[in-house]
Amino acid sequence: MMQTLPVYLNFAQKAKIGFEIQGKWPIKRLKRLNEVLLSDQGDIEADLKFDRAGPIPFITGHITAELQLKCQRCMQAVPYSVDINFKLGLVQNDAHMKKLPDEYEPCLVKEEDDNNHLPDMLEDELILALPLVAMHDYDCSDYLQQHKSEQQNEVNSVEEKENPFSVLKDLL
Ligand SMILES: [Zn+2]
Repeated sequence: MMQTLPVYLNFAQKAKIGFEIQGKWPIKRLKRLNEVLLSDQGDIEADLKFDRAGPIPFITGHITAELQLKCQRCMQAVPYSVDINFKLGLVQNDAHMKKLPDEYEPCLVKEEDDNNHLPDMLEDELILALPLVAMHDYDCSDYLQQHKSEQQNEVNSVEEKENPFSVLKDLL
């Protein structure tokens, strides 16, 4: 069983001493991510390394998740597999950020702050990885149309079955 990740972690301190952690986090506890999902079931899984490259403290991470996005055409679920890698350079101010090599995404931390919110950071990375507009890769509008007419046919056949009874009722 994979452990649940901690909520708080001192990123800067962990990078200074070198640290690795693997764990999971429930999707239903990622509120911002949930706004674009149809299902909050399941977990994300993350593998994180905290280290330094010369003067630069950084975090490398790998996140995997199976998400259910909402199709913007038919509003049904679109299964979406997330498998992303990221590299965050920990910076304490704008001056640090300007000096950060391009290979790092900046992540603002305070040295003395031991309350970096780990799920928030993972959620940011997940949201960045999602497509701007989720849509089925087949023509689901036709599918929807077909589905609607099937339902309509069912309604019609029920009405047809009812017809003989109403005729009987009239006779009685
Ligand atoms: Zn669709």
